[in-house]
Amino acid sequence: MAKVILKKASYDYEALKEQVCEVMNSLGGKEIMPRSSVVIKPNLLAPAPPDKAMLTHPLVVKATVEYVLQRGACPRISDSPAMGSFEKVLKESGIKDALGGLDVECREFKESESVNIGEPFNFIEISRDALRADVVINLPKLKTHSQMLLTLGVKNLFGCIVGLRKPEWHFRTGVDREMFAKLLVGICRVLKPSFTILDGIVALEGQGPGKGGTPRSLGVLMGSEDAFALDIVVCRMLGIEPERLLTNRVALEAGLVESALRVEGDLPGVSDFKLPEIAPLVFGPKAFHGAMRRHFVQRPASHDTLCRLCGECWKYCPAKAITHDTKRVRFDYEKCIRCYCCIEVCPHGALSAEETIPGKVIRRIMKISS
Ligand code: SF4
Ligand code: SF4
Repeated sequence: MAKVILKKASYDYEALKEQVCEVMNSLGGKEIMPRSSVVIKPNLLAPAPPDKAMLTHPLVVKATVEYVLQRGACPRISDSPAMGSFEKVLKESGIKDALGGLDVECREFKESESVNIGEPFNFIEISRDALRADVVINLPKLKTHSQMLLTLGVKNLFGCIVGLRKPEWHFRTGVDREMFAKLLVGICRVLKPSFTILDGIVALEGQGPGKGGTPRSLGVLMGSEDAFALDIVVCRMLGIEPERLLTNRVALEAGLVESALRVEGDLPGVSDFKLPEIAPLVFGPKAFHGAMRRHFVQRPASHDTLCRLCGECWKYCPAKAITHDTKRVRFDYEKCIRCYCCIEVCPHGALSAEETIPGKVIRRIMKISS
């Protein structure tokens, strides 16, 4: 039976280090062999300071590195940020400073290797460093996600898809969230991280996962050898039906996780955790889906007073659906696949997902709840 461990935690470093150590020991961290290669994969989405709660906190990363060093193994911090250089993310996140003086390598995922993740995708390219490491330690942040509801242990591993292959995959899975969830589950199944330690000490609620989200103190550190099991327990803690998170539903349907899980520690009840509005992309008869997507479904929108025309959104958009003039960005909603990558990468919190007025009205009439 998969085990998920919970600890009440804060960013007080000495206490946190002990807690990370206890969680790792209890999960079998003592089996990490001396001189083995250990890839530590935090959430390093984009440059952001710790108080924005967008990235795995630098002290959680540091405590994990110190644990690996104590085992005599060789830790390496890796990710492939969606925005900004790897160096810049390390610096702004505070991770570079936190790791000062420690014998740890920081190396961006660059090379890929083709690996079969099963139907319907078969062979896809995943970071060679992650695939070839002796041990992968997955360090997600607990965050909301405008497209997928939450980004937790399973979704964090999408960062092991290197560089521009990420938006390519968004484009290939298109508006089909379930297809994207299957992709994420396939990646997690193949990478099979040995440990997943979730930073829920200060989480991100509302319109995450980028700067549109709001930090929310939950005081929780969680660990498991099974990223699927951990994600299910997070949902329970937040009072969400686990299958509402599509990656959970796909994993449960595929028999990748047992429904009975062993939870060690007190599962805190979190009330009123603010989730993003996730409206169904299309509904009703299939013949109307095209028009519906154009006029009724939720879509990215910009807040022009916040937009600085920096260009990150249109550079990243996998559907090439964003243009701009000298005053504002513009969206082509026929091309837009509602992946919300633009919201993720916007460094100024100038984008959010918004429902259209006709969409709200129709949904109310049809009594379709998100
Ligand atoms: S919306 Fe955000 S990412 Fe896009 S140009 Fe404006 S500030 Fe930059
Ligand atoms: S406009 Fe935004 S949500 Fe639409 S496809 Fe581009 S990145 Fe994705």
